[in-house]
Amino acid sequence: MHELSILQSLVRSLEEVARTHRAKRVIRFRLEIGELANVVPELLEEAFEVLKAGDPLIQNAEMAYTFLSVKIRCEDCGKTSPWEQRALRCPHCGSVRVHVVQGEELRLRDVELELSEETS
Ligand SMILES: [Zn+2]
Repeated sequence: MHELSILQSLVRSLEEVARTHRAKRVIRFRLEIGELANVVPELLEEAFEVLKAGDPLIQNAEMAYTFLSVKIRCEDCGKTSPWEQRALRCPHCGSVRVHVVQGEELRLRDVELELSEETS
């Protein structure tokens, strides 16, 4: 399952963030998922259930996600446009020298941590 391996690496990043901040646990986090990332939210949630069961750090964490629409940028006229036509062609000048600038990402955002007691 594609989603499980994605989440495993996200959980590793979460663990790193938690360690850096000496947090006891993760309260919530959000994922930004590009439309082209090929992630099925239901499978992502299933995978998260599996992973959090064995990990005290994220056991009670809430996972939220937002989807990012696809945007393309034209190398000839420099304009960024939504990928409305589902074609890799610039809607402004018709150039095919376009590339995807948003929609492929899978990012961890808004991580909220419960911090350990201050030790001074
Ligand atoms: Zn263009």
